[in-house]
Order: sequence, then C-alpha cells, then structure tokens
Amino acid sequence: MKIICIGRNYLSHIREFKNKIPEKPVFFLKPETALLLKKQPFFYPDFSSDIHYELELVLKICKLGKNISARFAHKYYNEIATGIDFTARDIQQECIEKGLPWEISKSFDGAAAVGNFVNKDVLLKNEGISFSLKLNDNVVQVGNSLDMVFPFDHIVSYVSQFFTLKIGDLIFTGTPSGVGPVKVNDVLESYLENEKNLKVLIK
Ligand code: MG
Repeated sequence: MKIICIGRNYLSHIREFKNKIPEKPVFFLKPETALLLKKQPFFYPDFSSDIHYELELVLKICKLGKNISARFAHKYYNEIATGIDFTARDIQQECIEKGLPWEISKSFDGAAAVGNFVNKDVLLKNEGISFSLKLNDNVVQVGNSLDMVFPFDHIVSYVSQFFTLKIGDLIFTGTPSGVGPVKVNDVLESYLENEKNLKVLIK
C-alpha cells in the first residue's frame, strides 16, 4: 500500500505560503509506515519543533489501474475520509531552501492520520464535499472539494500515468488555508460533511 499526497491544490493555501499555482499536480509519497494507527496518539517527534496539521480529503483506491483516463477515474475510488498530513514545517523549509526533496518532513512514522471512510456516493453532491478541522474545539480549517485546483478525477488520472494504482492505496488531495502548529496535549478533530470523522491526540 502506498500513500500519494497532492500539495498546493487549494488557492487559499497556495496564497498563504505565497506559492505559484501549479500547472500540473505536485505530489509526493508517504510510506505505509507513515500511517497513524487507529486510536493511537500522534507522538511529537524529537527531530522537529514545528509540526503542523494539514487537513485533507483522502481517496481510497478500489481498483487496479494504470494510465486511467479522467473520464473513467471515478470508478477507481469508492470511499473518502478526512486525513491529516502532518508536516515538520521547520525541516520542510530547510529542505526547500537547500533545493532538497522534502520527504523526511512529511513521511515519518505517524505522519498520515486517516479517519473513517465513507462511501463517496453518499458524499458527492453538487455542492462538493465540505470538511473542517477543530484544534482544541476551535475551528481552524474549513474546506470544500469544489475549491480544489485539480479535482479528484484529474488527480487520479494524472498520478496513474506514473504509478500503477493498487487497491487500498490512499490519495491525500491537498489542504485548504489555516494550517498551523500543534503542541503536546492538543486535540485535533475533523468533520466530514458535519459528521465527526477523525480524532487525534498529540502526545
Ligand atoms: Mg498536504
């Protein structure tokens, strides 16, 4: 199983980091060991002092595919959850400044928290999928899938040109604005269309 993550996919988040709107999806991978096991806390790693949350919609791949056309991409994912792309922002910044890959800032153990998967047909309505994140009971991020630069089907199609998608693979589809730091004892709770979807305690 692999975890594919799209970066810079919401204008509001692109603006908050003063990045350019990408012409093609920007993506990176997290290994299977990055998955935070259900009900486990996120342990703040020693190597960073600036861990950020990034709330994202996550697609679960349900069909083996390669070179998938955008027209048929919807057949390749059947469930959606929210997930947190934990990021060591200090390490990422250092990597970007040195022109190095930022894998270590995103792919460490526990850096991918994923909530309960919901059938996509229940979620996909005309108004898109809304999602939000609370940090210690305060809403810090609000998003809607309609605001993505590259929508789900485009992402699945694009990524499958490079990687064969396998059943169970996950795709993180980017974060809206409002990302920020966490500290020990914080509680993160995400909502998918107003239903609680994921809870993570920072330890
Ligand atoms: Mg992200």
